[in-house]
Amino acid sequence: MGTDSITIPRWFDRHLHLRDGDMLRTVLPHTLASQATAAVIMGNLPPPNEISTIVKAIAYRDRIISMLPPGSDFTPIMTCYLTDETAPEDVVSGYKEGVWRAVKLYLARKDGSGGTSHSSRAVKDIRGRYPVFAAMEKEGIPLLGHFESVDPEIDEFDREMICLYLNVIPLHEAFPGLKIVFEHITDNRSAEFVVSAGDNVFATVTAHHLMINRNAMFDGGMNPFKYCKPVPKRDDHRRKVRAIVTAGHPRFGAGTDSAPWDEAAKARGFGCSAGIFTAPAAPELYATVFDEDGALDKLGAFMSVNLAEIYGLEPSKETMTLVRGSFTIPERVGTVRVFKGGEILPWKLVGR
Ligand SMILES: [Zn+2]
Repeated sequence: MGTDSITIPRWFDRHLHLRDGDMLRTVLPHTLASQATAAVIMGNLPPPNEISTIVKAIAYRDRIISMLPPGSDFTPIMTCYLTDETAPEDVVSGYKEGVWRAVKLYLARKDGSGGTSHSSRAVKDIRGRYPVFAAMEKEGIPLLGHFESVDPEIDEFDREMICLYLNVIPLHEAFPGLKIVFEHITDNRSAEFVVSAGDNVFATVTAHHLMINRNAMFDGGMNPFKYCKPVPKRDDHRRKVRAIVTAGHPRFGAGTDSAPWDEAAKARGFGCSAGIFTAPAAPELYATVFDEDGALDKLGAFMSVNLAEIYGLEPSKETMTLVRGSFTIPERVGTVRVFKGGEILPWKLVGR
């Protein structure tokens, strides 16, 4: 019988989609209930509402804050959605004014297609963005990258690996002082790159990518609720990434990429939306992974400490406790299906 309870500093989510309006109102309480102190908020709202300017970022932050219950200590950490037009001076002033603490890079094809959700305004010419990266390197502004090739010729399952070699490694060589966060890492070659690249390169890892491989998307027929970007990979990739994470590598941290979609947008057949919603069970999902790997002693650093500094956070002095027991993941939140909804996990957050 192993440990029956684990207490760690309150965690923060390094990658979260809250959407806007009614969906924001529906999903935000679940991140708060997970006892997160903060979350890095992705600004890929449907264009033209993507969070690409200081004015938009302040307004979005205010909409999030207006929905927090009185007394909440939750901090939304805003990011700047990089476009081909974003000026280096604007990135720097938004950072210095405390509006955002990082820049999010999505890639898209010339016609705006091919990227992840709402990436039509995303970067088509990464080389053309080098002046922005130079300014970010100088000021210490982190670049959070959705690093997947958007070339239609490239196999879907190779897109992260191809982007690693074509874009990320050249970027790191051109700007070795630039803090790069390889978001939602799935391919063991990118994970090995992060390990070998040194102090300025980091990774976030979702709970679902630690748990499922690409078979999940086809289990019982095409399963839209296991479809996300990057797509889950072969199991050997999952196992190798997971081994680095649960061995306690200090430059890997929890980022759920929890991405709610209305069930109708998921289950509409052709054109189903990419994204997996984990917010209602995130601490329990991660705890289950670390427990299975005999690594509960590494959970606190992964969830609550690693990467805090690059977002300007201190690890929380308050704690949260998970106990061994049974936690049934809710099937749905509003019209959103939850990852592994209805399944029972062996860990439960105290106070849920
Ligand atoms: Zn995301």
